[in-house]
Amino acid sequence: MNPDWKFDTLAVQAGYEPKNGAPRIAPIVQSTTYKYDDVQSVADLFDLKTPGFFYTRLANPTVDVFEKKIAALEGGVAAVAMASGQAANAFAILNIARTGDHVVSGSALYGGTVSLFTNTLKKAGIDFTFVPSSATEEEIRAAIRPETKALFVEVLANPALCVADLEMYARAAHSAGLPLIVDNTFPTPALCRPFDFGADIVTHSSSKYLDGHATSVGGVVVEKGGFDWTCGKFPEFTEPDESYHGLVYSRDFAASPYSTKLRVQLVRDYGVPMMPFNAFLTNLGTETLSLRMRKHSENALALARFLRNHPKIAWVKYPGLEGDEDHERAQKYLRGGASGVLTFGPKGGFKSSEKLMNSLKLAAIVVHVADARTGVLHPASMTHRQLSESELIAAGVLPELVRLSAGLEDAGDLIADFDQALAQC
Ligand code: PLP
Repeated sequence: MNPDWKFDTLAVQAGYEPKNGAPRIAPIVQSTTYKYDDVQSVADLFDLKTPGFFYTRLANPTVDVFEKKIAALEGGVAAVAMASGQAANAFAILNIARTGDHVVSGSALYGGTVSLFTNTLKKAGIDFTFVPSSATEEEIRAAIRPETKALFVEVLANPALCVADLEMYARAAHSAGLPLIVDNTFPTPALCRPFDFGADIVTHSSSKYLDGHATSVGGVVVEKGGFDWTCGKFPEFTEPDESYHGLVYSRDFAASPYSTKLRVQLVRDYGVPMMPFNAFLTNLGTETLSLRMRKHSENALALARFLRNHPKIAWVKYPGLEGDEDHERAQKYLRGGASGVLTFGPKGGFKSSEKLMNSLKLAAIVVHVADARTGVLHPASMTHRQLSESELIAAGVLPELVRLSAGLEDAGDLIADFDQALAQC
């Protein structure tokens, strides 16, 4: 891989360099297992003395191509692909926090992440403090405790659509010797590279824009590299791992200790890898990432402008919209567009939201965003229905809120569809 290649070149070429006569497209290696000529070769692989493949639960050549590409696109040293975005966020935390530890998180989060943090990881003994999206650096610092192991935030929150002040979060984290973990699902590296703003770990639900065609559930965790794990707060990085005969991650894998530990310990033991076919499809999706993110953003902006001026719409939230409270931050952190998701509330409240959604002919009701096809969702009764009223408010979900994921269709056709649906409300 040429170190001078720009983003769009990396998006189509990174991760796979076919040899003479090899397939032009990275093949799907649909094999759980790999063949070796002698016992020692396999023993060395198990001891992590040599790199290579021995079982697809830990690594697979097709998944490896996708991981290398995402690491290149985010500007990190390594990536670990997972079975889902949920797995990516869960294990990004579990890789550094255990029972008795604590994490500070922005409160504007995807509903599944709220549930993961407040229920499942809490039951595992990890405590979370949530800070509002309006929190100042002092307030974030004040939430940090001696047992805090990381700060977590979504760059562009789903569905609150507030833009996190990444530099402020990074300053607060680093002042306490902690890593900043950032969920970059909605912007993707085509619009935002959180490592450029101080993040240390990036997570994705690759089920969204990285795939882009709603074919494959997946997730990925990317490591920037260079974080100091030896400051005394992270003994699992500096003390011997007995499951690998005393290997020390910060010493033996100094270039990428976080992702190595994540793969060889947690992906191995919990069994949450991405599958090769999903990696193949997601990798294909990433080839058009820049083109798609530009068009998704253009369509979302056109719809946001149309809805804002419509007499039956009470409010529109889209950080790409002039006058939006997050517009300034969007201009700083998101380059070339504010992604494809916007939210709005009809004047008639929840009943109008329902009528509008049922009247759409081109846009479909789907529990998903980031598809090439436009979709709508009502979070309060769907993705976020497990949340309490106060959690809904913290996550930025009003009862009437409709989440609209602008696809890649013609903007005029989409506007016409919303126009006819609104006429029936
Ligand atoms: N993070 C964000 C921001 C999401 O929007 C989602 C899913 O919508 C997830 C994580 C979870 O990802 P997955 O559905 O791939 O498990």
